Amino acid sequence: MTERLVARMREFGTTVFAEMTALAVRTGSINLGQGFPDTDGPPAMLERAVAAINGGFNQYPPGPGVPELRQAVAEHRKAHYDLAYDPDGEILVTVGATEAIAAAVLALCEPGDEVVLFEPYYDSYAAAVALAGAVRRPVALRPVEGRFTFDPAELRAAVGPRTRTILVNSPHNPTGTVFTREELAEIAAVCREHDLIAITDEVYEHLTFDGVEHIPLATFPGMRERTVMISSAGKTFSVTGWKTGWVCAPPELTRAVQTVKQFTTFTASAPWQLAVAHALTHELPWVAALRRDLQAKRDRLMAGLAAAGFGVLRPSGTYFVQTDIRPLGFEDGLALTRELPSLAGVVAIPTQVFYDRPEYGRHFVRFAFCKQDEVIDEAARRLALLGKGSNR
Ligand SMILES: *Cc1c(COP(=O)(O)O)cnc(C)c1O
Repeated sequence: MTERLVARMREFGTTVFAEMTALAVRTGSINLGQGFPDTDGPPAMLERAVAAINGGFNQYPPGPGVPELRQAVAEHRKAHYDLAYDPDGEILVTVGATEAIAAAVLALCEPGDEVVLFEPYYDSYAAAVALAGAVRRPVALRPVEGRFTFDPAELRAAVGPRTRTILVNSPHNPTGTVFTREELAEIAAVCREHDLIAITDEVYEHLTFDGVEHIPLATFPGMRERTVMISSAGKTFSVTGWKTGWVCAPPELTRAVQTVKQFTTFTASAPWQLAVAHALTHELPWVAALRRDLQAKRDRLMAGLAAAGFGVLRPSGTYFVQTDIRPLGFEDGLALTRELPSLAGVVAIPTQVFYDRPEYGRHFVRFAFCKQDEVIDEAARRLALLGKGSNR
């Protein structure tokens, strides 16, 4: 049947997330694979969604998004980053960040254009680039002193005459790296020199740890005018099922993205938009508590993984921690994660699936810590058997 699928999508069969989640269900394992929280978002925000539905807010909202949410996004950008966006013409509400990314790539890349992106990368990027008929130019993130980063020379070498856009994700899934001011300045310089448009995925903008702050690429000199800045409510407010995201960009870029978006979904669901407008305006203290809570969960899981014998890299943001499996005597993360349910009753994600060149990520495995403490503790208890029971 796969032959019915268009050629450009054939490399995207079933994702490893589906495989691993099915494996978790089948084996009754603890699922530290997929990154969704197992607790709810702020109660007043949830009530606002219910009130919107009961209050008759159930028909098509305006194409660019409900005015309340566009206004709330503009105020949030101004207050947090001192970035001014006009709610009328520079902000577009989308069906999650996923639609925003796909619509941006489809709107801005001609077939054959090249897109620079950092690998490992979020899996939807490659599919969006493929749908556009564009070509990926990966730049590797590699661990240096316990943190994944890139070599500026490699970034420059990846840019060619057909490069149109660069996709930048910070805080970064799956490595947990939050790009520093210096790293972002390098990226910004390359964008300016080569007249690239940056598409930035900032869905973890609020989920950073140890006092590390997220800096939007659009705040760098000459970048606001060439950046399509994307974020979403899913991670910030623990409602990954709401699929409510937004684009902030200058008018010409916003119009381009909306031109595609109006035919992928036309508009995003109405009730969530009102609830997220409320949350952006009133629930940032709740988010600050979430961030402290997540930092403690990160430390809890890191301690458990280190005790089990993994090499553990400390993430500065996101839901995820990267582990090096070689200290345990394993070499291939894909083989290990397929065996992990029977070895330890835990499911994780092999980092190599996020690469164009999987060999770079072969000995890394990603664990999610956005889970209740008891779940993390039980996973750590099970994983502790790995070192002891292993016959490798
Ligand atoms: C979760 C996630 C997304 C998807 O966000 P939605 O708003 O659910 O579409 C995009 N990018 C990264 C890096 C993510 O982790």
